[in-house]
Amino acid sequence: MEKESEPMKEHIEVVSFDVDGTLVPMEFNNLIWLEELPSLIAKKEGMSFEDAKAYTISEYEKVGEGDLRWYEMNHWIKHFDLDASFEDILSKYESKIETFPDVIPTLERLEDRFTLILTTAMPREFLDIKIKTIKQFFKFDFSVISDFKQLKTPDSYLTICNKLNILPSELLHIGDHWEYDYIAPKEAGANAIFLDREKKRIGDFIIHDLEELEL
Ligand SMILES: [Mg+2]
Repeated sequence: MEKESEPMKEHIEVVSFDVDGTLVPMEFNNLIWLEELPSLIAKKEGMSFEDAKAYTISEYEKVGEGDLRWYEMNHWIKHFDLDASFEDILSKYESKIETFPDVIPTLERLEDRFTLILTTAMPREFLDIKIKTIKQFFKFDFSVISDFKQLKTPDSYLTICNKLNILPSELLHIGDHWEYDYIAPKEAGANAIFLDREKKRIGDFIIHDLEELEL
């Protein structure tokens, strides 16, 4: 029996990757959001680090990931009234940024046959620092938040297709967020693969490692 994913391969022109959790582990984000910001707040407010961390998380949760402000460092610098710049905060842990071990082999395998792009909801300033070592593989990168003032909605995937002058059916997006990386591109008429690195789900169009990509 032919696998359901087979016909998809015929017409894919562009392969799009999410960044956080897909290409780059979350450690850098955690260091920034759950270590560096709380430690700046602790210093400023004279709190213990633990109290500052709990306070910071509760403030993040009031906003939530469905709100653009969640992703904007400048919003949080202002919100917590911190005396530090975006660059200061990001550069401190730059040496900790790495890619998952399956990333480079996969990109090397695909780069000659497809146009590779990045589609992320993180602001461009974050993106630039994170992709320094893999930038050369990607023809375009889209920060939907910086470029379109949107999250990864069906509409932002359609906008990307229009910009690349392709049909949604010629796009394959791969990412680790069920709603933003799988459901949203599907609703736009694109192809999508859910990358479940925690191996919690199984099914068609779900992979646990990028090397499982059948392209
Ligand atoms: Mg992600």
